[in-house]
Amino acid sequence: MATEKIYAIGDEIFTECGKCKSEMHHIVTTMKDDKVKKVMCKGCNSTHVFRVKKKKAVKAGAADKPKVKRRSSKKDWGKLTADMQDDEFIDYNMSLDFTQQRGIKHHKFGNGVIIKVLATTQLEVVFQDSIKILVQNYSMN
Ligand SMILES: [Zn+2]
Repeated sequence: MATEKIYAIGDEIFTECGKCKSEMHHIVTTMKDDKVKKVMCKGCNSTHVFRVKKKKAVKAGAADKPKVKRRSSKKDWGKLTADMQDDEFIDYNMSLDFTQQRGIKHHKFGNGVIIKVLATTQLEVVFQDSIKILVQNYSMN
């Protein structure tokens, strides 16, 4: 117990956000007995229970089952990028504003197409194999 880092309300934790479906910066909002109970996501401003467990471990069992894709994102991808040029994909950086952009180039996911601006700080982006919520206009202040 003593080895655990003790947080305080207002501290920042970088953890998985179920709503954003990615690792996001969170602010501790509720504490109980030196343990973080609830955190607020800086990306979507939603408050949720802080979970320590890793998401990958939970998904391991499901990977054995044959995959049934509900929707072919590959098909959509072809349609989305059909009229796009390589130079329309701008290098992604969470501190930039992509509101007026369509193409995005992510260091990990590759080229993506912004299908929706969810908020001033959030984008819904379709990549070839996945759909991700990315942060924009992010500032460390
Ligand atoms: Zn979030």
